[in-house]
Amino acid sequence: MNSEDFQTVRVSHIIEINPRVRRFFLEYAEPIVFQSGQFIIIDFKDINHRYTTRSYSIADFTNGNTIELCVVLKEDGAATPKLFDHQIGDILHASLPKGRFVLPIETIENDLFLICTGTGVAPFRTMIKDLLFHRHHQANIHLFFGGRYPEDLLYQEDFEKWMIEFPQFKYYPVLSRTEWSGLKGYVHEHYLKLLTTQPKAHFYICGWSEMVKETRDNLKELGYTRQDIKIELYDS
Ligand SMILES: Cc1cc2nc3c(=O)[nH]c(=O)nc-3n(C[C@H](O)[C@H](O)[C@H](O)COP(=O)(O)OP(=O)(O)OC[C@H]3O[C@@H](n4cnc5c(N)ncnc54)[C@H](O)[C@@H]3O)c2cc1C
Repeated sequence: MNSEDFQTVRVSHIIEINPRVRRFFLEYAEPIVFQSGQFIIIDFKDINHRYTTRSYSIADFTNGNTIELCVVLKEDGAATPKLFDHQIGDILHASLPKGRFVLPIETIENDLFLICTGTGVAPFRTMIKDLLFHRHHQANIHLFFGGRYPEDLLYQEDFEKWMIEFPQFKYYPVLSRTEWSGLKGYVHEHYLKLLTTQPKAHFYICGWSEMVKETRDNLKELGYTRQDIKIELYDS
């Protein structure tokens, strides 16, 4: 990417969700075009790494020029400790929204399965908002969200509220290291239960490679094809 493709954006707000995860609100100087599911690239310029850029999915889009990111701190990472040092009012260098991990333009008739762990939930927040509030989507949307502990369930309040408001939205939080009354273990065993009859469905999977690849392999074994499955990998 050329340096002229980056814009200066202002950090307009920061919310700490838990000690390792923060929501960063970035304001562009001009209105921008955005499709739910997309990401931006930030150029950190002077970090000690072969690549100075890092990608972040957009967790919300407001006022025509403000995007929200949801970022987990990697203590020994090159970029995230630097990002977590930023304060409101600071300037960052960011691309415009990009990427093909987006919903089809046409109406989606079959069930949608959105499967993620951790900050991989970010693009699904924009997709779900788009489907429920703008597209008036009628088919089921199943969000499977895996974490270890209750504090890993990001945007829990939104998802619980939307689940009550929109019966077609089904939210399945799954925790692997917590004794609780909800779903336990990993996401895989839970979405697989809904797929025993191999219903027609579209799948979006987002996050770190281990979970993404295992999900894709499970779906392929059930007979789903590349046309049915879209993935966004946070690491290669
Ligand atoms: C399209 C795209 C969208 C992304 N969206 C988000 C997002 O919304 N939120 C977010 O927090 N991150 C997101 N990422 C990951 C992000 O780009 C960085 O990789 C991450 O912030 C770590 O950067 P770093 O420089 O601190 O770590 P690095 O110094 O780059 O870390 C080194 C290595 O660790 C891996 N790694 C980093 N973090 C983790 C982790 N938590 N679990 C397992 N492996 C890890 C990296 O892939 C890399 O191989 C996204 C990546 C892509 C490609």
